[in-house]
Amino acid sequence: MDVLARSIADTGLPHPLLVDAARSAIANGDPESARREAEALQRAMLQRVINATGTLLHTNLGRAPNGVHQDAGFRNLELDLSTGERGSRQAHAPTLLARLCGAESAMVVNNCASAVMLILAALAENRGVAVSRGELVEIGGGFRVPDVMEQSGAHLVEVGTTNRTRAADYRKRIDDPESDIALVMQIHQSNFTIQGFTEMPTIQSLANFDVPLVADIGSGLLDAACPWLPSGPPSWLADEPAAKQTLANGASLVAFSGDKLLGGPQAGIIAGDKALVDACGRHPLARALRPGGLVLGALQELALEYMNRNWEAIPFWRMAMASNGSLQARAEAIVNAGGVGAIIETMAVPGGGTLPTVEIPSVGIAIEGDHRKALRTAPVPIMARVAEDTTILDLRSVDTEDDLAITNALQRVGAP
Ligand SMILES: *Cc1c(COP(=O)(O)O)cnc(C)c1O
Repeated sequence: MDVLARSIADTGLPHPLLVDAARSAIANGDPESARREAEALQRAMLQRVINATGTLLHTNLGRAPNGVHQDAGFRNLELDLSTGERGSRQAHAPTLLARLCGAESAMVVNNCASAVMLILAALAENRGVAVSRGELVEIGGGFRVPDVMEQSGAHLVEVGTTNRTRAADYRKRIDDPESDIALVMQIHQSNFTIQGFTEMPTIQSLANFDVPLVADIGSGLLDAACPWLPSGPPSWLADEPAAKQTLANGASLVAFSGDKLLGGPQAGIIAGDKALVDACGRHPLARALRPGGLVLGALQELALEYMNRNWEAIPFWRMAMASNGSLQARAEAIVNAGGVGAIIETMAVPGGGTLPTVEIPSVGIAIEGDHRKALRTAPVPIMARVAEDTTILDLRSVDTEDDLAITNALQRVGAP
């Protein structure tokens, strides 16, 4: 067994895993399969992959691509350097994010689901939260609004109907002492649309009740004006709620994800009125949901890039804003050097449970047949899609620095 394990040491796996691979191959009566067993163990590890699916925020690929550059040094995570006293981990990145969306204050938790859970627990425990029946949604991955509500200890108070809800419907519930409404909550219909005979109240029309208005916008667009983009917001963002405008229109708090349109690491941001953010921060759940220094460091870096309007340093915006001319030129270079494939027009999608009806024109490489397995087992795994027995690699979701890896993979696919 040990000899067999050593014979596959070039796979780079640590010795205990080589032994596992060898043992499993011997148990299967096929020692020759040890290398395949080792490769299967490697594939089971978290690793860099190339996203050629055209889905920019691919849930299975970790949504927004985001790098973290941190050395092993100590950090002033909970230390105030001006006083030398204990500080708050919520003092760094959250302050910058608050500034970016025009909020009085902000805090960061592990994801948007925890942000919503914390808001409900801190501001509405054992009390009613008014939500439109059109917003009792499942966002995916088990985030179901009624379930989150129940877990938080708040009571769901349904308002209006599935397709039509008006401000007066909320008013009626707020005026009813039995309902004991502590919050009005609006949840963005991130991953579906209701069309036809529909009516949903604007944020403005819900802002003047005497209970706080909380908006779960999910998608994480900071500012609808996209001041970080020289050309302003792209047309496909037109209907997407943004944190800054939602707050300016009267929401007391917004909650959104860090790894959707924000383009950062997995995180949930709560931004808005300071007293409400502080109440969230004081709740015991805040301790359980707090992010670590890696995430807060990555978010701080991201917030500074937004402030510097350095959109090209944010991988999501770099992908989203690439011109079709530049994608076309890259596709030509890859196909010429790779020796296989035809260049086609494609439609990329934002993905990540945001903007369900939006498509972004893009450029792809089409190869006859289903080559997904060969691409997936390339040195850096490449994820592509298949339509009508044609493999399509969409370049909008591929970073330019991965073009060479795709070229090499195409050479192997094309080889007889
Ligand atoms: C995506 C989304 C969530 C869940 O966000 P996570 O960061 O994945 O927890 C919640 N609400 C809305 C509206 C969303 O779009």
